Amino acid sequence: MRVSVAGAGLGGLALAQGLRGAGIEVDVFERDPGIVARFQGYRLVLDPTGFQAVRDCLPERWHPLLDEIVMDASADQLVLDPQLNEIGRLPGCGRTGIVVDRQVLRHLLLTGLTVHTGAALSGYDVLADGKVRARFERRDPATADLLVGADGVASAVRGVLSPQTVPTDTGVRFVIGRTPLTGEFDDLSKAYGSKIAGDGVSLLLGAMRFGTPPKQAAERLAPEVTLPDIGDYVRWAMILPPDASMDDLTPQDAVLSRMDGWHPQLRALIEQADPDNSTLLSIRVVKPGERWAPGPVTLLGDAIHATSPTGGNGANTALRDADLLRRRLVEAEAGRRDLLGAVDDYERRMFEYGAEAVRSSLDRLAAFAPEV
Ligand SMILES: Cc1cc2nc3c(=O)[nH]c(=O)nc-3n(C[C@H](O)[C@H](O)[C@H](O)COP(=O)(O)OP(=O)(O)OC[C@H]3O[C@@H](n4cnc5c(N)ncnc54)[C@H](O)[C@@H]3O)c2cc1C
Repeated sequence: MRVSVAGAGLGGLALAQGLRGAGIEVDVFERDPGIVARFQGYRLVLDPTGFQAVRDCLPERWHPLLDEIVMDASADQLVLDPQLNEIGRLPGCGRTGIVVDRQVLRHLLLTGLTVHTGAALSGYDVLADGKVRARFERRDPATADLLVGADGVASAVRGVLSPQTVPTDTGVRFVIGRTPLTGEFDDLSKAYGSKIAGDGVSLLLGAMRFGTPPKQAAERLAPEVTLPDIGDYVRWAMILPPDASMDDLTPQDAVLSRMDGWHPQLRALIEQADPDNSTLLSIRVVKPGERWAPGPVTLLGDAIHATSPTGGNGANTALRDADLLRRRLVEAEAGRRDLLGAVDDYERRMFEYGAEAVRSSLDRLAAFAPEV
Protein backbone atom coordinates (compact mmCIF):
# COMPACT_ATOMS: atom_id res chain seq x y z
CA MET A 1 0.00 0.00 0.00
CA ARG A 2 1.13 3.53 -0.73
CA VAL A 3 -0.37 6.52 1.04
CA SER A 4 -0.07 10.23 0.17
CA VAL A 5 -0.59 12.65 3.03
CA ALA A 6 -1.29 16.31 2.23
CA GLY A 7 -0.13 18.52 5.12
CA ALA A 8 2.81 18.21 7.50
CA GLY A 9 0.95 19.35 10.62
CA LEU A 10 0.76 17.25 13.76
CA GLY A 11 -1.97 14.96 12.44
CA GLY A 12 -0.45 14.24 9.03
CA LEU A 13 3.02 13.65 10.45
CA ALA A 14 1.79 11.39 13.25
CA LEU A 15 -0.09 9.27 10.71
CA ALA A 16 2.95 9.13 8.42
CA GLN A 17 5.20 8.04 11.31
CA GLY A 18 2.75 5.32 12.30
CA LEU A 19 2.52 4.01 8.73
CA ARG A 20 6.27 4.14 8.24
CA GLY A 21 6.70 2.12 11.42
CA ALA A 22 4.36 -0.52 10.01
CA GLY A 23 6.29 -0.72 6.73
CA ILE A 24 3.66 1.12 4.65
CA GLU A 25 5.02 3.49 2.01
CA VAL A 26 4.05 7.06 2.72
CA ASP A 27 4.89 10.47 1.24
CA VAL A 28 3.99 13.76 2.90
CA PHE A 29 3.33 16.84 0.74
CA GLU A 30 3.54 20.20 2.52
CA ARG A 31 2.58 23.57 1.02
CA ASP A 32 5.06 25.64 3.07
CA PRO A 33 8.47 26.13 1.45
CA GLY A 34 10.17 24.79 4.57
CA ILE A 35 9.26 23.24 7.88
CA VAL A 36 10.00 26.36 9.92
CA ALA A 37 8.65 28.76 7.30
CA ARG A 38 6.23 30.46 9.71
CA PHE A 39 5.49 30.78 13.41
CA GLN A 40 4.11 27.58 14.84
CA GLY A 41 5.97 27.39 18.12
CA TYR A 42 3.20 27.62 20.63
CA ARG A 43 2.68 25.20 23.46
CA LEU A 44 -0.12 22.66 23.40
CA VAL A 45 -1.78 20.78 26.21
CA LEU A 46 -2.42 17.16 25.29
CA ASP A 47 -4.86 15.01 27.22
CA PRO A 48 -3.98 11.37 27.99
CA THR A 49 -5.79 10.16 24.83
CA GLY A 50 -3.94 12.57 22.52
CA PHE A 51 -0.60 11.89 24.17
CA GLN A 52 -1.05 8.12 23.97
CA ALA A 53 -2.07 8.46 20.31
CA VAL A 54 1.11 10.26 19.31
CA ARG A 55 3.20 7.88 21.42
CA ASP A 56 1.67 4.90 19.65
CA CYS A 57 2.46 6.42 16.25
CA LEU A 58 6.15 6.85 17.13
CA PRO A 59 8.78 4.10 17.26
CA GLU A 60 9.29 2.79 20.79
CA ARG A 61 12.95 3.80 20.76
CA TRP A 62 11.86 7.47 20.78
CA HIS A 63 9.50 7.16 23.72
CA PRO A 64 12.17 8.16 26.29
CA LEU A 65 12.90 11.29 24.22
CA LEU A 66 9.20 12.11 23.93
CA ASP A 67 8.83 11.81 27.71
CA GLU A 68 11.82 14.09 28.26
CA ILE A 69 10.52 16.96 26.09
CA VAL A 70 7.05 17.24 27.64
CA MET A 71 5.98 18.44 31.06
CA ASP A 72 3.03 17.64 33.28
CA ALA A 73 0.75 20.58 33.84
CA SER A 74 -2.13 21.40 36.04
CA ALA A 75 -3.90 24.71 36.16
CA ASP A 76 -6.48 26.07 38.59
CA GLN A 77 -8.09 27.98 35.72
CA LEU A 78 -8.80 31.13 37.66
CA VAL A 79 -10.17 34.38 36.34
CA LEU A 80 -7.88 37.26 37.38
CA ASP A 81 -8.20 41.01 37.00
CA PRO A 82 -5.40 42.97 35.27
CA GLN A 83 -3.72 43.43 38.69
CA LEU A 84 -3.68 39.63 39.14
CA ASN A 85 -6.38 39.51 41.84
CA GLU A 86 -8.62 36.45 41.72
CA ILE A 87 -12.16 37.37 40.67
CA GLY A 88 -13.59 34.00 39.67
CA ARG A 89 -13.03 30.60 38.15
CA LEU A 90 -13.39 29.35 34.62
CA PRO A 91 -16.17 26.80 34.01
CA GLY A 92 -15.18 23.16 34.59
CA CYS A 93 -12.67 21.86 37.08
CA GLY A 94 -8.91 22.43 37.05
CA ARG A 95 -7.23 21.16 33.91
CA THR A 96 -4.37 18.70 33.92
CA GLY A 97 -2.48 17.50 30.91
CA ILE A 98 0.81 17.03 29.17
CA VAL A 99 2.38 20.17 27.77
CA VAL A 100 4.40 20.02 24.58
CA ASP A 101 5.88 22.59 22.24
CA ARG A 102 4.22 22.17 18.85
CA GLN A 103 7.37 22.92 16.86
CA VAL A 104 9.51 20.53 18.90
CA LEU A 105 6.94 17.77 18.51
CA ARG A 106 6.76 18.44 14.77
CA HIS A 107 10.52 18.05 14.46
CA LEU A 108 10.40 14.72 16.25
CA LEU A 109 7.53 13.59 14.04
CA LEU A 110 9.39 14.63 10.88
CA THR A 111 12.43 12.47 11.53
CA GLY A 112 12.96 9.81 8.88
CA LEU A 113 9.91 10.73 6.81
CA THR A 114 9.81 11.61 3.12
CA VAL A 115 8.39 15.15 3.25
CA HIS A 116 8.13 17.20 0.05
CA THR A 117 7.98 20.90 0.93
CA GLY A 118 6.76 23.60 -1.46
CA ALA A 119 4.13 21.05 -2.55
CA ALA A 120 0.72 22.73 -2.39
CA LEU A 121 -1.99 20.26 -3.35
CA SER A 122 -4.40 21.80 -5.84
CA GLY A 123 -6.75 18.87 -6.54
CA TYR A 124 -6.91 15.16 -7.21
CA ASP A 125 -8.42 12.58 -9.60
CA VAL A 126 -9.73 9.15 -8.72
CA LEU A 127 -8.39 6.80 -11.40
CA ALA A 128 -10.16 3.90 -13.11
CA ASP A 129 -8.10 1.35 -11.12
CA GLY A 130 -9.33 2.85 -7.81
CA LYS A 131 -6.09 4.69 -7.05
CA VAL A 132 -5.89 8.44 -6.54
CA ARG A 133 -3.64 10.95 -8.25
CA ALA A 134 -2.90 14.11 -6.27
CA ARG A 135 -2.14 17.26 -8.25
CA PHE A 136 0.11 20.04 -7.01
CA GLU A 137 0.72 23.63 -7.96
CA ARG A 138 4.42 23.31 -8.67
CA ARG A 139 5.38 19.65 -8.88
CA ASP A 140 4.47 16.47 -10.70
CA PRO A 141 1.36 14.54 -9.62
CA ALA A 142 1.70 11.63 -7.20
CA THR A 143 -0.38 8.44 -7.33
CA ALA A 144 -1.26 6.36 -4.28
CA ASP A 145 -3.83 3.88 -2.97
CA LEU A 146 -5.09 6.47 -0.47
CA LEU A 147 -4.88 10.25 -0.21
CA VAL A 148 -5.28 11.71 3.27
CA GLY A 149 -6.12 15.41 3.49
CA ALA A 150 -4.42 16.56 6.68
CA ASP A 151 -4.12 20.05 5.24
CA GLY A 152 -5.76 22.08 7.97
CA VAL A 153 -8.74 24.36 8.29
CA ALA A 154 -8.66 25.59 4.65
CA SER A 155 -8.12 22.05 3.29
CA ALA A 156 -7.78 21.82 -0.50
CA VAL A 157 -8.59 18.11 -0.31
CA ARG A 158 -11.86 18.87 1.49
CA GLY A 159 -12.65 21.44 -1.22
CA VAL A 160 -12.93 18.58 -3.73
CA LEU A 161 -14.14 15.76 -1.46
CA SER A 162 -16.78 17.66 0.49
CA PRO A 163 -17.22 21.14 -1.04
CA GLN A 164 -20.32 21.80 1.06
CA THR A 165 -18.21 21.59 4.26
CA VAL A 166 -16.78 25.06 4.72
CA PRO A 167 -15.14 26.83 7.66
CA THR A 168 -17.22 29.21 9.77
CA ASP A 169 -15.44 32.34 10.94
CA THR A 170 -16.47 33.00 14.54
CA GLY A 171 -15.34 36.64 14.10
CA VAL A 172 -13.04 36.21 17.09
CA ARG A 173 -9.43 37.06 16.53
CA PHE A 174 -6.48 36.65 18.78
CA VAL A 175 -2.85 37.63 18.95
CA ILE A 176 -0.47 34.92 20.06
CA GLY A 177 3.19 35.19 20.93
CA ARG A 178 5.89 34.00 23.24
CA THR A 179 8.43 35.53 25.58
CA PRO A 180 11.52 33.88 27.10
CA LEU A 181 10.75 32.79 30.69
CA THR A 182 13.04 34.52 33.19
CA GLY A 183 12.96 35.12 36.95
CA GLU A 184 11.53 38.57 36.22
CA PHE A 185 8.13 36.96 35.69
CA ASP A 186 7.93 35.02 38.99
CA ASP A 187 4.80 36.92 40.11
CA LEU A 188 2.93 35.67 37.08
CA SER A 189 3.03 31.99 38.04
CA LYS A 190 -0.54 31.92 39.36
CA ALA A 191 -1.73 33.33 36.04
CA TYR A 192 -0.44 30.37 34.01
CA GLY A 193 -3.47 28.44 32.75
CA SER A 194 -5.81 31.20 33.95
CA LYS A 195 -7.63 33.99 32.19
CA ILE A 196 -6.88 37.66 32.82
CA ALA A 197 -10.05 39.60 32.11
CA GLY A 198 -9.53 43.13 30.83
CA ASP A 199 -11.87 45.63 29.24
CA GLY A 200 -13.44 43.52 26.44
CA VAL A 201 -10.33 41.36 26.06
CA SER A 202 -8.95 38.18 27.68
CA LEU A 203 -5.26 37.41 28.10
CA LEU A 204 -4.22 33.77 28.50
CA LEU A 205 -0.76 32.72 29.68
CA GLY A 206 0.90 29.33 29.70
CA ALA A 207 4.44 28.38 30.71
CA MET A 208 6.57 25.96 28.69
CA ARG A 209 9.38 24.59 30.87
CA PHE A 210 11.53 21.85 29.44
CA GLY A 211 13.01 19.26 31.81
CA THR A 212 16.04 19.21 29.52
CA PRO A 213 16.46 21.59 26.54
CA PRO A 214 15.04 19.61 23.59
CA LYS A 215 18.20 19.77 21.45
CA GLN A 216 20.32 18.32 24.27
CA ALA A 217 17.70 15.70 25.11
CA ALA A 218 17.77 14.47 21.49
CA GLU A 219 21.58 14.41 21.38
CA ARG A 220 21.61 12.21 24.48
CA LEU A 221 18.61 9.95 23.88
CA ALA A 222 18.20 9.71 20.09
CA PRO A 223 21.11 11.22 18.12
CA GLU A 224 19.34 10.59 14.80
CA VAL A 225 16.73 13.20 15.83
CA THR A 226 17.50 16.93 15.53
CA LEU A 227 15.33 19.13 17.73
CA PRO A 228 15.24 22.95 17.82
CA ASP A 229 17.44 24.79 20.28
CA ILE A 230 14.84 26.61 22.37
CA GLY A 231 14.59 27.48 26.03
CA ASP A 232 11.70 27.92 28.46
CA TYR A 233 9.09 30.50 27.49
CA VAL A 234 5.67 31.90 28.32
CA ARG A 235 3.04 31.59 25.59
CA TRP A 236 0.52 34.41 25.72
CA ALA A 237 -2.63 34.93 23.69
CA MET A 238 -5.00 37.87 23.78
CA ILE A 239 -8.55 37.26 22.57
CA LEU A 240 -9.96 40.39 20.95
CA PRO A 241 -13.59 41.40 20.54
CA PRO A 242 -15.07 40.56 17.09
CA ASP A 243 -14.98 44.19 15.86
CA ALA A 244 -11.48 44.96 17.17
CA SER A 245 -9.54 47.29 14.92
CA MET A 246 -5.80 46.72 14.64
CA ASP A 247 -5.18 50.16 13.11
CA ASP A 248 -1.70 49.87 11.65
CA LEU A 249 -0.23 48.35 14.78
CA THR A 250 1.98 45.29 14.95
CA PRO A 251 0.24 42.36 16.71
CA GLN A 252 2.39 42.99 19.79
CA ASP A 253 1.58 46.73 19.91
CA ALA A 254 -2.12 45.99 19.39
CA VAL A 255 -2.02 43.87 22.57
CA LEU A 256 -0.12 46.54 24.53
CA SER A 257 -2.60 49.21 23.42
CA ARG A 258 -5.29 47.30 25.34
CA MET A 259 -3.21 46.94 28.51
CA ASP A 260 -3.08 50.48 29.91
CA GLY A 261 -2.69 50.31 33.70
CA TRP A 262 -2.19 46.52 33.78
CA HIS A 263 0.24 44.86 36.22
CA PRO A 264 3.80 45.87 35.17
CA GLN A 265 4.93 42.25 34.79
CA LEU A 266 2.08 41.57 32.39
CA ARG A 267 3.07 44.55 30.26
CA ALA A 268 6.76 43.59 30.46
CA LEU A 269 5.89 40.10 29.28
CA ILE A 270 4.36 41.44 26.08
CA GLU A 271 7.06 44.11 25.61
CA GLN A 272 9.79 41.46 25.76
CA ALA A 273 8.09 39.08 23.34
CA ASP A 274 9.97 37.69 20.41
CA PRO A 275 8.59 39.81 17.50
CA ASP A 276 9.19 37.04 14.96
CA ASN A 277 6.97 34.77 17.03
CA SER A 278 3.91 36.99 17.47
CA THR A 279 1.03 36.82 15.08
CA LEU A 280 -2.66 37.61 14.60
CA LEU A 281 -4.98 34.65 13.95
CA SER A 282 -8.72 34.22 13.35
CA ILE A 283 -10.79 31.55 15.06
CA ARG A 284 -12.47 29.49 12.36
CA VAL A 285 -14.19 26.19 12.93
CA VAL A 286 -15.14 23.34 10.60
CA LYS A 287 -18.10 21.17 11.58
CA PRO A 288 -18.19 17.71 10.05
CA GLY A 289 -21.49 17.44 8.16
CA GLU A 290 -22.56 14.84 5.60
CA ARG A 291 -20.27 11.87 4.95
CA TRP A 292 -19.01 11.54 1.38
CA ALA A 293 -19.20 8.40 -0.75
CA PRO A 294 -16.51 5.84 0.19
CA GLY A 295 -13.36 6.08 -1.92
CA PRO A 296 -9.58 6.39 -1.82
CA VAL A 297 -9.61 9.87 -0.24
CA THR A 298 -10.23 10.85 3.37
CA LEU A 299 -9.66 13.73 5.79
CA LEU A 300 -8.02 14.06 9.17
CA GLY A 301 -7.63 16.74 11.87
CA ASP A 302 -8.55 20.40 11.36
CA ALA A 303 -9.37 19.64 7.70
CA ILE A 304 -12.63 18.04 8.84
CA HIS A 305 -13.17 19.13 12.46
CA ALA A 306 -11.38 22.41 13.22
CA THR A 307 -12.07 23.48 16.80
CA SER A 308 -11.70 26.80 18.56
CA PRO A 309 -8.29 26.89 20.32
CA THR A 310 -10.15 27.77 23.52
CA GLY A 311 -11.30 24.13 23.58
CA GLY A 312 -7.69 22.93 23.81
CA ASN A 313 -8.70 19.82 21.86
CA GLY A 314 -7.77 20.35 18.18
CA ALA A 315 -4.37 18.68 18.32
CA ASN A 316 -5.70 15.98 20.61
CA THR A 317 -8.40 15.13 18.10
CA ALA A 318 -6.04 15.27 15.09
CA LEU A 319 -3.65 12.87 16.87
CA ARG A 320 -6.52 10.57 17.78
CA ASP A 321 -7.51 10.49 14.09
CA ALA A 322 -3.94 9.71 13.05
CA ASP A 323 -3.69 6.78 15.44
CA LEU A 324 -7.13 5.39 14.56
CA LEU A 325 -6.53 5.62 10.81
CA ARG A 326 -3.07 4.11 11.22
CA ARG A 327 -4.53 1.10 13.03
CA ARG A 328 -7.18 0.53 10.39
CA LEU A 329 -4.67 0.83 7.52
CA VAL A 330 -2.30 -1.60 9.20
CA GLU A 331 -5.19 -4.10 9.35
CA ALA A 332 -5.84 -3.54 5.64
CA GLU A 333 -2.15 -3.98 4.82
CA ALA A 334 -2.17 -7.27 6.72
CA GLY A 335 -5.15 -8.44 4.62
CA ARG A 336 -7.57 -8.49 7.57
CA ARG A 337 -9.96 -6.07 5.82
CA ASP A 338 -10.14 -4.19 2.54
CA LEU A 339 -8.91 -0.63 2.19
CA LEU A 340 -12.31 1.00 1.70
CA GLY A 341 -13.74 -0.85 4.70
CA ALA A 342 -10.81 0.33 6.82
CA VAL A 343 -11.34 3.95 5.76
CA ASP A 344 -15.11 3.68 6.28
CA ASP A 345 -14.66 2.42 9.83
CA TYR A 346 -12.22 5.26 10.60
CA GLU A 347 -14.56 7.91 9.17
CA ARG A 348 -17.62 6.64 11.05
CA ARG A 349 -15.91 6.96 14.43
CA MET A 350 -14.00 10.13 13.57
CA PHE A 351 -17.16 11.98 12.49
CA GLU A 352 -18.77 11.24 15.85
CA TYR A 353 -16.00 12.34 18.21
CA GLY A 354 -14.86 15.10 15.80
CA ALA A 355 -18.27 16.76 15.84
CA GLU A 356 -18.33 16.56 19.63
CA ALA A 357 -14.86 18.15 19.84
CA VAL A 358 -16.02 21.15 17.76
CA ARG A 359 -19.19 21.51 19.86
CA SER A 360 -17.34 21.49 23.17
CA SER A 361 -14.69 23.95 21.92
CA LEU A 362 -17.43 26.41 20.90
CA ASP A 363 -19.08 26.03 24.31
CA ARG A 364 -15.78 27.05 25.90
CA LEU A 365 -15.30 29.98 23.52
CA ALA A 366 -18.13 31.79 25.30
CA ALA A 367 -16.05 31.97 28.49
CA PHE A 368 -13.38 33.95 26.62
CA ALA A 369 -15.41 35.96 24.10
CA PRO A 370 -18.89 36.45 25.62
CA GLU A 371 -20.10 38.65 22.77
CA VAL A 372 -19.87 35.79 20.21
C1 LIG B 1 -2.80 29.22 19.50
C2 LIG B 1 -3.28 27.84 19.44
C3 LIG B 1 -3.25 27.04 20.56
C4 LIG B 1 -3.71 25.73 20.52
N1 LIG B 1 -3.68 24.97 21.65
C5 LIG B 1 -4.10 23.70 21.60
C6 LIG B 1 -4.03 22.86 22.76
O1 LIG B 1 -3.60 23.27 23.85
N2 LIG B 1 -4.46 21.57 22.66
C7 LIG B 1 -4.93 21.09 21.48
O2 LIG B 1 -5.32 19.89 21.44
N3 LIG B 1 -5.00 21.84 20.36
C8 LIG B 1 -4.60 23.13 20.39
N4 LIG B 1 -4.66 23.89 19.26
C9 LIG B 1 -5.15 23.33 18.00
C10 LIG B 1 -4.09 22.58 17.23
O3 LIG B 1 -2.91 23.32 17.05
C11 LIG B 1 -4.63 22.16 15.86
O4 LIG B 1 -5.91 21.62 16.00
C12 LIG B 1 -3.73 21.07 15.24
O5 LIG B 1 -2.44 21.58 15.00
C13 LIG B 1 -4.35 20.55 13.95
O6 LIG B 1 -3.44 19.68 13.32
P1 LIG B 1 -3.62 19.29 11.80
O7 LIG B 1 -2.49 18.36 11.50
O8 LIG B 1 -5.00 18.82 11.53
O9 LIG B 1 -3.50 20.65 10.98
P2 LIG B 1 -2.37 21.75 10.94
O10 LIG B 1 -1.48 21.67 12.11
O11 LIG B 1 -3.06 23.02 10.61
O12 LIG B 1 -1.48 21.34 9.67
C14 LIG B 1 -1.95 21.47 8.36
C15 LIG B 1 -0.74 21.51 7.43
O13 LIG B 1 -1.20 21.44 6.08
C16 LIG B 1 -0.46 22.37 5.30
N5 LIG B 1 -1.27 22.69 4.11
C17 LIG B 1 -2.32 23.55 4.03
N6 LIG B 1 -2.82 23.56 2.78
C18 LIG B 1 -2.07 22.68 2.05
C19 LIG B 1 -2.11 22.23 0.70
N7 LIG B 1 -3.02 22.71 -0.19
N8 LIG B 1 -1.21 21.30 0.30
C20 LIG B 1 -0.29 20.81 1.16
N9 LIG B 1 -0.21 21.21 2.47
C21 LIG B 1 -1.10 22.11 2.90
C22 LIG B 1 -0.23 23.55 6.24
O14 LIG B 1 0.83 24.36 5.80
C23 LIG B 1 0.06 22.81 7.55
O15 LIG B 1 1.42 22.51 7.70
C24 LIG B 1 -4.21 25.22 19.30
C25 LIG B 1 -4.23 26.01 18.15
C26 LIG B 1 -3.77 27.31 18.21
C27 LIG B 1 -3.79 28.15 16.96
